[in-house]
Formats: sequence, C-alpha cells, structure tokens
Amino acid sequence: YFVSFEGGDGSGKTTQARLLGDWLGAATGREVVVTREPGGTTLGLEVRRLVLHSEDMDPRTEALLYAADRAHHVASLVRPALERGAVVVTDRYLDSSVAYQSGGRELSEQEVEDLSLWAVQGLLPDVTVLLDVDLETSRARMARDLDRLERVDDAFRQRTRDAYLRRAAADPARWAVVDARGTVEEIQAAVRAAVAERLAV
Ligand code: C5P
Ligand code: MG
Repeated sequence: YFVSFEGGDGSGKTTQARLLGDWLGAATGREVVVTREPGGTTLGLEVRRLVLHSEDMDPRTEALLYAADRAHHVASLVRPALERGAVVVTDRYLDSSVAYQSGGRELSEQEVEDLSLWAVQGLLPDVTVLLDVDLETSRARMARDLDRLERVDDAFRQRTRDAYLRRAAADPARWAVVDARGTVEEIQAAVRAAVAERLAV
C-alpha cells in the first residue's frame, strides 16, 4: 500500500503519518516505510535545503526542484519499498506541488500535474489523506522560526487550501478529507477509519 498525507503547514501531517505507519505495520504485519518530501533521501535533503533557504526563487525553478526531489525519492526509495511488499506512508507527495506551485504560486495546474506525473512515472498513492485545517489553527501550530516558504500570506495559504479541497472533491476514491482541528488522538482515529475504508486492512 502507498499512502500520502497532504495539507497545509501546521496541519499535523508528520505526527499523523508516523502514527498511521505504526498502526498499518501492526494491522498488516508488513514492513512500513514512513518518509517525506521534500527531503526523504540524502539527495532530497540537499534539494530541501535549496528550496527552503536560498534566495527568493522563480516558481518554475521551485517546481523543478520539487520534481527532482520526488523523482529521486520514488526511484530510489518508494518504488523499491513497494516492490518488496512494504507499506509506504509519505508526508507530502505530488499533490503538494499542485497545491503550492499551482494553487499558491499560480503556475498552470495541468503543467504542474504533468511534470509531477512524469517525475514519478505515473505512480499515484492508493490513498491520500488531506488534513484540512483552517488558517487560524494552522498559524497557531506553526513553529516560531518560519522558513522562507512558511512566510507566505493568508491569500497564498487560502489558495493552497482551496486547491487541495478541489482536488480531493474531484477524486473521492483516492482522497480522504479529515478535519484536522481535534486532538492528535481524535485525528488519528479519523485517519485510520478513512484508510481502513479504502484499503483492505
Ligand atoms: O511539510 P514540510 O514542512 O516538510 O515542507 C517544507 C516547506 O515547503 C513548507 O513550508 C511547505 O509549505 C513548502 N512546500 C512547498 N511546495 C511543495 C512542498 C512543500 O512550498 N511542493
Ligand atoms: Mg513545515
């Protein structure tokens, strides 16, 4: 199984991905790989450093760097894990590019999607969990030292959230939208229920 977590900054993806990974491991008896983008590999950490900390960057440059990180992530880690029967849970995947580089930075959605699919040779998750959170909650949860990409305005955040919700509505077989305002335990219970409904676990 291949599961991705999506959502804005401060939606709790990292915590929920780890907890779901633990549960899926116990439920399936399979190896579980919990990973993330950008930066799930050694090369990816270099790309992450570039996109987060270099000077303000053209949106196309940014889109290509995320695509490069993702191509390497899938080729070297995700696909081999799936091929040996492991469950893979990733904190962000290609829908992040559509939400941020298209919704947020206003590149063409079709182009960003095509670039992303090309990078991963069409590999889509079986389930994508959208941790949907309002701007206020997200702001309250974010760390104090914001990096370049977290210092975006509310309009950017709103466009990103809207792009996620639109994609989720267009493909309900793959997407599960979970209200991410509760406690860690409440959200995890909702995530497990949504994943169990879509996968035979
Ligand atoms: O989720 P994580 O904190 O690891 O993401 C790092 C930063 O990169 C976040 O500020 C996120 O908003 C941003 N990002 C982005 N475009 C992507 C993926 C992440 O702007 N495609
Ligand atoms: Mg972050």
